[in-house]
Parts: sequence; structure tokens; C-alpha cells
Amino acid sequence: MPLKIFLSDRLVDEADAKVSVFDHGLLYGDGVFEGIRVYGGKVFLHDEHIERLYESARAIRLVIPMEAAALKKAVEETVAANNLSDGYIRLVVTRGAGSLGLDIRKTSNPQVIIIADTITMYPPETYTNGMKLVTASTIRNHPGALSPRIKSLNYLNNIMARIEGTDAGMVEALMLNHKGEVAECTGDNIFIIKKGVLLTPPKDAGILEGITRNAVMRLAREAGYPVREEPLTRHDLYVADECFLTGTAAEVVAVVSLDGRPIGTGKPGPITNDLLKRFQELTKKGGF
Ligand code: PMP
Repeated sequence: MPLKIFLSDRLVDEADAKVSVFDHGLLYGDGVFEGIRVYGGKVFLHDEHIERLYESARAIRLVIPMEAAALKKAVEETVAANNLSDGYIRLVVTRGAGSLGLDIRKTSNPQVIIIADTITMYPPETYTNGMKLVTASTIRNHPGALSPRIKSLNYLNNIMARIEGTDAGMVEALMLNHKGEVAECTGDNIFIIKKGVLLTPPKDAGILEGITRNAVMRLAREAGYPVREEPLTRHDLYVADECFLTGTAAEVVAVVSLDGRPIGTGKPGPITNDLLKRFQELTKKGGF
């Protein structure tokens, strides 16, 4: 079934959803985006995603041509128009069409695009058996160059690392930051569990401050697990009891080995499984 796409200010048929070849989103990766889940027809953690989108836009000096409330409504209308019950929304704002140069003053009309579809992030067996990771040689963008906290359309950094994972026969890759510390995977945040404590890199470690990450930290604290945000090395991961990734598309997925070293028992761990269960309950409930 062809989709209805929200483009600029209205819903159009997929076949008519076209953007200019002069759009700086295409020419330069100049824009911001969000990936959002829909569970039971309800947009999950909608406010959090809208807030991060506006923060990313502010950081790159992009003025989103809609108020947050109107944009939220447009997302909900797109979900309804596509009869989407469980799926994935891609919300994109590009700088808009401009000249063949970098000057943002020569662009006009930032372009809003909303796609409501489905997504399969990793093969289904990954969710029962866990995934294996390798460390990519491509380091995460230096925050002083392009902050990983901005969810920009420029994903080449992640794509370069993901290619390394694919070359190694894996579906993800671990990225380190410019200091050699653990940052995140190419589309997910990372956690370890050591002696019952959840540990994850802090938000200034060269990561996107994931909305699933924040939700899982809250669920973990509510369940009585201590949670600490602190710098981690690969060694911490090698000797962890458990490891898992979080992301909107990925949800919660266990990691069972890194660079050929089994993590813990080499199987998805009990706390990971408990948090996965709690996360699934949260999605059923529609949020906190
Ligand atoms: N890091 C990166 C690089 C990502 O692309 C994503 C997916 N948006 C995440 C982390 C996880 O963030 P969230 O939980 O907000 O989807």
C-alpha cells in the first residue's frame, strides 16, 4: 500500500512526495531528524522526540517552520492517515532548497517531511540470541567538530563504522570517542551491567542522548538497579557481566560478545531480559 507522506504542510501521496535536488538536506546532509515508534496507534515518548528535534535544529541554526504543537499534530495525522498501529516514524527537517553553495542565507523554506512506516532494525534471532559486536576503527565525531548530541542528517560517521561491522559479518559496530572511550553503536546507545550496577557513557562522551537510553535508565532505577553514567573503556565491556543496546528502532537488544570476547556467559543476561520485559510493558502502557 502506498503511503501518505506529510510534506511541508499537507499529506500527499507517496508518488507525489518529492523534494528539490537543490535541497541542502540532500546536497550537504544539512538538516535534522527523529526516528519515533508508534505502539498501539500511539506515538511513543512523543514530547521527548519533538523536544530533541527542536534542540538539534537550534544547534545548527535551523528554524523549524512550525510550532512544536502543530508539528506534533502533523505527526499524529500522518500516523492516522496511514492506519499505522505499530510502526516507525521518520520526522525530517531539511534546510530546504538553496544555491550550490554552503551559505544558509541562500536557502529558503526548510522542508518538513513525515514518513509513517514500519522498520526491522536487526534480524529477529538477534532478539533471542543477542548480537556480536566489533569495535570500529572509525571514531565517533569529535564533539567539537559535529556534536553527536545533534541528530543531524549527516550520518556518514556512523555509516563508515557500520560498514566495518558489516565487513566483519555483524549487524552493528561499537564506536569509541576521540579519547578512546566507549561512545555508542552506530544507531544505538550502549549499557553494561557489572555486579548488578548499570553503567553507560555520559552524554558528553560523544553520544546521542538516546530517548530509549533515558527511558531504560528510569525503568532501571524504578526497579531498584543502581545506574551510573560514567566513562567506559573497551576493557570494561570485555569484563562486563552483561551488555545491551537501546534505541528507538532497536528497542532493547542484548550484546553477547565484543571483538571475539564473550560477554558474561555469552548469552543474554537476566537483568537485560528483565529490563527488556519492563521496556515492553512501558510500550504497551504508552509511556511513563
Ligand atoms: N545513537 C545514535 C547514533 C542513534 O542514531 C540512535 C537512534 N536514534 C540512538 C543512539 C538511540 O537514540 P533513541 O533511543 O533516541 O532512538
